Amino acid sequence: MDYSLTEEQISIKELIRTIAEERIVPVRAELDEKEEFPWEIMKYLADTDMFRVFIPEEYDGLGGGCLDLCLVIEELSRACAGVALCYAATSLGTIALIRYGTEEQKQKYLPAIANGERLAAFSITEESAGSDIGALKTTAEKVEGGYLLNGTKQFVSNGGEAELYTVIALTNKSKGPRGASAILVEKDTPGFSFGRKEKKMGIRASSTRELVFEDCFVPEENLVGREGLGFIITLKVFDESRPGIGAQALGIAQGALEAATDYAKQRAQFGHPIFSFQAVQHLLADMATQTEAARALVYAVARTIDSGAKQYTKESAMTKIFASDVAMKVTTDAVQVFGGSGYTHDYPVEKMMRDAKITQVYEGTNQVLRNTIALELRKEKR
Ligand SMILES: Cc1cc2nc3c(=O)[nH]c(=O)nc-3n(C[C@H](O)[C@H](O)[C@H](O)COP(=O)(O)OP(=O)(O)OC[C@H]3O[C@@H](n4cnc5c(N)ncnc54)[C@H](O)[C@@H]3O)c2cc1C
Repeated sequence: MDYSLTEEQISIKELIRTIAEERIVPVRAELDEKEEFPWEIMKYLADTDMFRVFIPEEYDGLGGGCLDLCLVIEELSRACAGVALCYAATSLGTIALIRYGTEEQKQKYLPAIANGERLAAFSITEESAGSDIGALKTTAEKVEGGYLLNGTKQFVSNGGEAELYTVIALTNKSKGPRGASAILVEKDTPGFSFGRKEKKMGIRASSTRELVFEDCFVPEENLVGREGLGFIITLKVFDESRPGIGAQALGIAQGALEAATDYAKQRAQFGHPIFSFQAVQHLLADMATQTEAARALVYAVARTIDSGAKQYTKESAMTKIFASDVAMKVTTDAVQVFGGSGYTHDYPVEKMMRDAKITQVYEGTNQVLRNTIALELRKEKR
């Protein structure tokens, strides 16, 4: 379909597709098997200016919008969603800084992220604070000249690999969620270490790790926005980043659709390519329709955000829910098209199916996001 992408967007998409085909497809199974962080690919994405896409021009970026970022994530995910997450988690880690950071903070950190020297990450989840982010316990106690962080964060994408972390912690415990703040923490800060690295079902090239803070002193100039804004910042960050998860899910679905279509044309049974059987054709037709519908929603919501819309919580949640449910369905059906071979590591669709699952879980599970949408519907007046 023609989505009226600009010349620049078309060339970003084409460039990423070429990079993905040449650099990611040949190594994705090995990265998955070894659970290896794809540093070489991250360096190549840096060399080709891809980290500049989501950074404003004043800080050495290309000033791209949500749609540009979604196009990159979609194309990376079409090849490998784990690699795509290492890139996308960096953009997630910079949103608070870009939207709420001081000029000094932006000057200090963004150029090094734009040129790919530093990866970033965003961290709110804790053992007792998953869907219920208000239950977080990590504290950032005010001391002379800064904050003393104590606590353990869980499930941080790019954990251990990123140089810069946006951490949500309580600067005022007595106020609960209203006492949370966003604080930038650099990797080598004394008192900051990395705990358990998760062994995962999918997106295994990405690193998911605990962050451990033990009397970790962070200077007050690392506070993002104001004290007490941590929750509002988090909600805004996720509103802006969820279309990116939609794009990741879309890319996975597209990859699975293409693999299944190609396979159906070359695999013969009963003397005919399996593509000639109507049951297989209908499976593929549904997969194609669902994938295209996901693309239309992801691009439309990304454009809404780029147009400067003030409120898009509902639409952003819809994007993530719809595209991730499509990715799960399409990858499962792709395995079906491959039959027994689809269940083996000889073909990429079993990995795509494993990778798809996380898109229904992170950045708000699809159940919790349905609650979010219902809440917005309740508020709407006609
Ligand atoms: C690979 C990976 C990467 C991640 N990356 C990051 C990251 O970079 N930064 C970060 O901060 N976090 C990250 N997370 C955390 C992720 O966002 C959470 O895992 C997710 O929000 C769900 O929280 P939970 O795992 O505690 O599940 P729980 O909250 O315990 O949920 C368990 C089940 O209960 C359901 N449930 C819970 N509450 C409700 C409700 N009110 N209504 C209906 N159903 C409900 C959920 O839908 C789910 O099915 C990551 C997680 C994973 C696995």
